[in-house]
Amino acid sequence: MVQYDYIILGAGASGLMLACRMASDVFFDDKSIVIIDKDRHKGNDRTWCFWEKDKGEWDNMLTKTWTKVFFGSNSYSEQIDILPYQYKMIRSEDFYSSLWKKIEGKSNFTFINDEVVNFTELKQNVQVITKNGSYITSKLFNSIHNVNLYNTQKKYPVLQQHFVGWFVKTKENIFDDSVATFMDFTVPQNGNTRFMYVLPLDKKTALFEYTLFSDELLQLNEYEDAISDYLKQKNITNFEIIEKEKGSIPMTSFKFSQLNSKHILNIGTAGGWTKASTGYTFRNTSKKTKILIDFLKSESDLTKFQKKSKFWFYDLIFLDVLANHNEEGAALFASMFRKTDVKTIFKFLDEESTLLEDLKIILSVPPKRFIQSFFKRLF
Ligand SMILES: Cc1cc2nc3c(=O)[nH]c(=O)nc-3n(C[C@H](O)[C@H](O)[C@H](O)COP(=O)(O)OP(=O)(O)OC[C@H]3O[C@@H](n4cnc5c(N)ncnc54)[C@H](O)[C@@H]3O)c2cc1C
Repeated sequence: MVQYDYIILGAGASGLMLACRMASDVFFDDKSIVIIDKDRHKGNDRTWCFWEKDKGEWDNMLTKTWTKVFFGSNSYSEQIDILPYQYKMIRSEDFYSSLWKKIEGKSNFTFINDEVVNFTELKQNVQVITKNGSYITSKLFNSIHNVNLYNTQKKYPVLQQHFVGWFVKTKENIFDDSVATFMDFTVPQNGNTRFMYVLPLDKKTALFEYTLFSDELLQLNEYEDAISDYLKQKNITNFEIIEKEKGSIPMTSFKFSQLNSKHILNIGTAGGWTKASTGYTFRNTSKKTKILIDFLKSESDLTKFQKKSKFWFYDLIFLDVLANHNEEGAALFASMFRKTDVKTIFKFLDEESTLLEDLKIILSVPPKRFIQSFFKRLF
């Protein structure tokens, strides 16, 4: 059986970020590292957006940035200047090719194109079984996400951020590409939390993404009809769809860290690095992989990596409210955006806010549901 120092399962956002950070750090030069993925050439299978203050380390691969966002709802709408933050977009194809270039330059990395079937913690190491082989490692980083682990429990609510997006190209100059529509809740809510997300790339091209925070996925035609209706309502009739994307991202406070062991660390969405209350994962993964590199230099027990934080509890309360009163999401977000500075909201969602800033956010939402949920969880 072949033995490696580190095995990374999955060459998506988290697996590649971790591998790339290892490839950039001399500490890992004498380590044998293998990356296993069943599908290396995924093309442009997703677009990542995230907010970030000033310059960032992924800036060389950005497709577009915005310094203004629009929030819309029936009770409150506003265009908001977010500087010094910027809302940034990366096409996954650019990300994958840039990171692979760096990793392929290192002779201690191997890629295995295979489907992972199973992995098991042994006394001193971990065994990985794939369709065509078997491998041993002393440290396993797993980004292969198993939905059954949290879908079969009842303790924590599981919602999905689910969406279908159309990249639309028009004949005329129509879009104001200086403003990203962050959330437009003026779409019919139909008992859920539903919004349109619009990212104009230039005056003729924009991504329209119909998004829900809810537990049940819709039929494809329901998302697409909603995008069609929205375009009609905005008088955008002369267009072609140049690309489509769809996704479903878990929103849950399920304790992913309990799946970690001395030699196995779950990373990315599989490791609970998706922010439970928003579905955003990319920037958190960037931050966590950076911390992980330093951690690996001084610590060998991977159960010590994940730290408890107050934000886990905030997310849990928020998800309880959204799960039990899914139709109230629009009012809740509108109240938060109306009463709080967007920079404080970003800081809070980035889990970098102070207690005073947390309090500002907590006081900005209608209290009734949150108090109910808080006491339910407490007792
Ligand atoms: C369409 C879409 C858009 C998104 N947009 C955003 C966004 O704008 N901002 C944001 O912050 N987050 C976004 N996300 C959420 C999150 O950032 C991404 O899902 C991100 O790719 C998660 O990284 P990951 O490494 O956990 O998983 P992935 O990137 O999905 O990587 C997992 C890898 O495992 C491989 N794999 C799976 N099963 C096996 C197996 N059995 N054997 C071998 N290999 C296997 C897959 O091929 C894949 O390469 C989006 C998600 C989707 C789906």
